[in-house]
Amino acid sequence: MKKAKIYVLATGGTIAGTAESSLDTAYSAGKLGLEELLDTVPEIKQLADITGEQVCSIGSQDMDEHIWLRLAERVNTLLKNDDCDGILITHGTDTMEETAYFLNLTIHSDKPVVLVGAMISSSAISADGPANLYNAIVAISDPESRGRGVMCCMNTKLIDAKDVIKRHTTDLATFEGDGCIGYVYGDKAYYNRKVTYTHTTLSEFDMTGVTELPKVGIVYGYAGCSPLPFESFVNANYDGIVIAGVGDGNIHKKIFPLAIDAVKKGIIVVRSSRCSTGPTCLNGEIDDEKYHFVASQNLNPQKARILLMLALTKTHDWRQIQHYFMEY
Ligand code: ASP
Repeated sequence: MKKAKIYVLATGGTIAGTAESSLDTAYSAGKLGLEELLDTVPEIKQLADITGEQVCSIGSQDMDEHIWLRLAERVNTLLKNDDCDGILITHGTDTMEETAYFLNLTIHSDKPVVLVGAMISSSAISADGPANLYNAIVAISDPESRGRGVMCCMNTKLIDAKDVIKRHTTDLATFEGDGCIGYVYGDKAYYNRKVTYTHTTLSEFDMTGVTELPKVGIVYGYAGCSPLPFESFVNANYDGIVIAGVGDGNIHKKIFPLAIDAVKKGIIVVRSSRCSTGPTCLNGEIDDEKYHFVASQNLNPQKARILLMLALTKTHDWRQIQHYFMEY
């Protein structure tokens, strides 16, 4: 079989992290450069022709919108070329789900784009990066992987960008969950299902020429919560606020009137939930229709923030934005 031509965009993370000794739990993310990282798995050269570039060298806790825009621009440009069959993005696991979801809505190609990371640094005795990297290259090389949207490859699983969530702080199986659409075994990717929401080639969000995204903040809900973070976003002229509410996106009485006022000022307010699973339903305990709030449906607060930023590049109409939350 002809070898796939794969381009790697390296951003750092634990997969490129190193420690003083193989037993250290303390390590620094993003230390290995692209070549050193690829050299940890010489076997991948048998699978694909691989080239690439270092986009940044960060722990993904420092990921931001400007790097997302650069990645989207690079991936779209590279995938237009017949010489590129797919993209691998090496990334820290902390915000991998956000980068994957942003790219899923801003890359307009059906060629495979896979993010990969590791939970254990490259110099530790049981580093998981090499196997994850190998599996990601297998997945990208497999023609079955086309048209499935952006995926993350971790711990043998292939997880779609909308469902992928880092669920555990340190466990290797941190990305286990509902989002697994397939897995890699040996030299092949096996898929269980197709995703049903809109992404990549059918997404209407185009980042060409965009250098700044609308400002959207997240306010966390808890018993007795303070109104200060919400007020600060309003005073700083944010375009949108996502409330990581309690339960089905419920909002504390100290925040509720502020949210109603914010909507009157033209700020889009999205209700999401701090619960780790389950949808935040439209017109559930809160009458969204009455207050013109948007319900995040199946998106957690951090992904709701991304969709709201993208939505605000097109419209400020809350009904249209609610429609986006149903579709993407
Ligand atoms: N803090 C690291 C990062 O997200 C953790 C990891 O890669 O697993 O870059």
